[in-house]
Amino acid sequence: YSTASAALEEPIKPSIQVEHTQLLIGGKFVDAASGKTFPTLDPRTGEAIAHVAEGDSEDVDRAVVAARRAFDEGPWTKMTAYERQKILLRAADLIEKHNDELATLETWDNGKPYAQAAEIEVPMFVRLIRYYAGWADKIHGLTVPADGSYHVQTLHEPIGVAGQIIPWNFPLLMFAWKVGPALACGNTVVLKTAEQTPLSALYAARLFHEAGLPSGVLNVISGFGPTAGAAIASHMDVDKVAFTGSTDTGKIVLELAAKSNLKTVTLELGGKSPFIVCEDADVDQAVEAAHFALFFNQGQCCCAGSRTFVHENIYDEFVEKAKARALKRVVGDPFKGGIEQGPQIDSEQFEKILKYIRSGVESGATLETGGERLGDAGFYIKPTVFTNVQDNMLIAKDEIFGPVQSILKFKDLDEVIRRANNTRYGLAAGVFTKNIATANTLTRALRVGTVWVNCFDTFDAAIPFGGYKMSGQGREKGIYSLKNYLQVKAVVTPLENPAW
Ligand code: NAD
Repeated sequence: YSTASAALEEPIKPSIQVEHTQLLIGGKFVDAASGKTFPTLDPRTGEAIAHVAEGDSEDVDRAVVAARRAFDEGPWTKMTAYERQKILLRAADLIEKHNDELATLETWDNGKPYAQAAEIEVPMFVRLIRYYAGWADKIHGLTVPADGSYHVQTLHEPIGVAGQIIPWNFPLLMFAWKVGPALACGNTVVLKTAEQTPLSALYAARLFHEAGLPSGVLNVISGFGPTAGAAIASHMDVDKVAFTGSTDTGKIVLELAAKSNLKTVTLELGGKSPFIVCEDADVDQAVEAAHFALFFNQGQCCCAGSRTFVHENIYDEFVEKAKARALKRVVGDPFKGGIEQGPQIDSEQFEKILKYIRSGVESGATLETGGERLGDAGFYIKPTVFTNVQDNMLIAKDEIFGPVQSILKFKDLDEVIRRANNTRYGLAAGVFTKNIATANTLTRALRVGTVWVNCFDTFDAAIPFGGYKMSGQGREKGIYSLKNYLQVKAVVTPLENPAW
């Protein structure tokens, strides 16, 4: 590894101080009702960055009351769509202006390379908020040609108080995917960040308030899943819940929603996405794309291309090049320039990934490279490549959520379609081929929410994202996400005064 020693060096000191560690309720930063705090850790060292207010059900109650009031009494819901749009556009401008602070908090709390946060993720955050600001004044219902002498129209109205529970792998982007459409449609929000990464959302939410967002419209709770998260999912006065995280927790959220007030639910869950390299693919390009598809963000992507299927005729060449590429991957302090991979998020994920690596070796896969931690501080793992992976091995079935590439060999299209679909997940797939007919066959046969053909992880604000099967329910981003935050009301009026 080019910078294998980087992880052993003294961690680079971030350029800013943490400003916000309290909960954001009703437009004010406040302590948790219990007075409790919890440490948020630096994945480079495992040491505390700051102590953050620990919200629980009492704080969720306070936030829901604030959000309810802001929804029922306004001014948010009484503003014109154009006024709401201007606030969102101002928020996007402020986020853009504070790119460095937000990217620094993101790297510090999450461990992702600073360049990725500063050059990709914060700009995408800005883009998403501008995209949804654009929708704010274009949401309207239909005039419906019903039988009889009636004027029938539909009104597309906000749902009310939206509860949102987000994970730690892309804290700012998940915030944008959730908050953007909710606010554009005129809802109010209670958002719970992941306990591993509370910092950037608090800073971003402050910027929304500086942009003129009225108090109570956007409330941010830091805290844990079984307390604060479950309180949102089971709250009787939350009208909708949107969740991103593991499939197991998604089931809990759906159950809590059903058992409480039947709030509507959208779920973005796990994946085990196939990345299919056909016989005619350009091997060098496919190697690079497959490497990116798996290792991007330390392998912590729900849509990671975590089953690399390679045609038998190019398998040996592909394996040799994939291994060489993994060996070249630059791992180290994410604040250092030129770093491709930082540490994993926390000790729990770190241990889980190492356990899967051991399971891969024990089940007979060939460990080509990596397979162990890097350095002796923090949660760095060497880029790992397994070959001769069989479908029934745990490493081919479970979401590892780490820098572990599993390469599998296939003979023909029918076989790879069957094997690619043989999973409880259905989030995404990658297809590499020069043949348009092969691409069309695969894109139609794969039971997944996104197929990237000769590309991977292309995330535009307008492209919908979501899962088939146990990868989730509903779609986020694009026009499709508006549906998650709107109710349809039918209004029926006789054309003439009825004679009753
Ligand atoms: P998780 O699903 O437990 O956490 C995601 C969010 O849900 C966090 O905000 C968490 O606090 C909250 N949560 C946890 N328990 C809850 C409950 N009972 N009620 C309501 N909310 C609850 O995920 P994790 O423990 O951070 O990671 C475990 C695995 O999940 C990972 O290894 C990975 O496989 C997967 N994961 C997937 C994604 C994704 O984007 N799809 C993101 C993070 C993790």
